[in-house]
Amino acid sequence: MSKETIISCDLCWYTGDNSNIKNINVDVIMTTEQDEWRATTPYFEKFKIDVCNECQKRRLNWEPVFWSWAQWYNDYFFKK
Ligand SMILES: [Zn+2]
Repeated sequence: MSKETIISCDLCWYTGDNSNIKNINVDVIMTTEQDEWRATTPYFEKFKIDVCNECQKRRLNWEPVFWSWAQWYNDYFFKK
């Protein structure tokens, strides 16, 4: 039995081989205020999040990462 911590990609929820996931700084486009649900003029914010290889490929393809405040949790995501 492995005691390795299970980490998941903050963008697509991939879990699997931890070596496929890296904790990196990401410029995220914020569309709501960080402590409220209110929509705001989009702005950039840097976050250190877990990103899997597949999502990293999408970032290298210039797909921007968004964040929004959902009712009970924070969510990072690609537009589609
Ligand atoms: Zn991912």
